[in-house]
Amino acid sequence: MTDNETQPQQSGHEHCGIFTLGGDIPIQGAYRDICYEPLRHKIWTASEGIYRTIFLEGKKGVTAFDTFGTPGTARAYGGAIQRVFPKKPIHTIVYSHDHLDHVGYAADLAPDADIIAHDYANQVISARGSDGQLPASEVWTGERTEYNIDGSRFELIYPGLTHGDGNIAAYFPEEKVCFMVDTVADGVGYTTLMDWHLTHYVPVMKRFLSLDWDLWVPGHFWPITRERFIEILGYWERLFEFAQNAILDGVDPHDWDGLNKYTDEKLGPLYADEFRYYEYAAMNLSRYMQEYLSGGWGIDGNLKPDTTPL
Ligand SMILES: [Zn+2]
Repeated sequence: MTDNETQPQQSGHEHCGIFTLGGDIPIQGAYRDICYEPLRHKIWTASEGIYRTIFLEGKKGVTAFDTFGTPGTARAYGGAIQRVFPKKPIHTIVYSHDHLDHVGYAADLAPDADIIAHDYANQVISARGSDGQLPASEVWTGERTEYNIDGSRFELIYPGLTHGDGNIAAYFPEEKVCFMVDTVADGVGYTTLMDWHLTHYVPVMKRFLSLDWDLWVPGHFWPITRERFIEILGYWERLFEFAQNAILDGVDPHDWDGLNKYTDEKLGPLYADEFRYYEYAAMNLSRYMQEYLSGGWGIDGNLKPDTTPL
């Protein structure tokens, strides 16, 4: 039996997410190479270069976190897992949060798997009804829950508002590993997304420092150390004051040239060597400025964050 015969096959209809154009969307089916490597004990990590996730070897099968963001990438992820564990099917998928680019295509990864998600994420997923994104079969609520699936023990932690809805961390206390998507990753990217809950983000992420781990696996790029996690969080914290100063200095958050000039002058000396600095620094500043100019986003974004240790 070849790898191709063991994984969901591409049919005439490719799942289209929330696209409404009709017709073929070739990029949805494009194949991506997935690299994988063992991380610690039964934890493996997989990436197509930009996105990253983890999967767990169980006694009978595999628990896969997330699905990647297109049907083609989800199939490639399933194929990669089957090259490592050809006799172990994916029996469980754990969703990190609601976003399609990480968890949009369980229907192409393992359509019969059990799917675990936090209730907040699943409410969004159920309402969205995106083609290819399957709702959870098992929903959990609250801040913390423990799982023992097919020999793999881990906790899922919802620390509060960070990014998207129901964004959770998987904590492996024995392996001292934390996996969490779209929060702290190496470099200075990504807080530009609108549903990044900026006023909660830094204090909520600091709660993870009360847990015993030394390897942080983000949903993008590569794993980082605890020291690096603290440094990067320091950058995001610094931007709150920096954005207020930019407003006082008369920077226009819609003036791209002005934003770039301001960040080059003021942030460049400290952070220009950070991964993707020149791509994101000005966008970050604009997003943080909007927070102060508008008052933040929505009801949730204006509640007081929980800062107690986890
Ligand atoms: Zn996301």
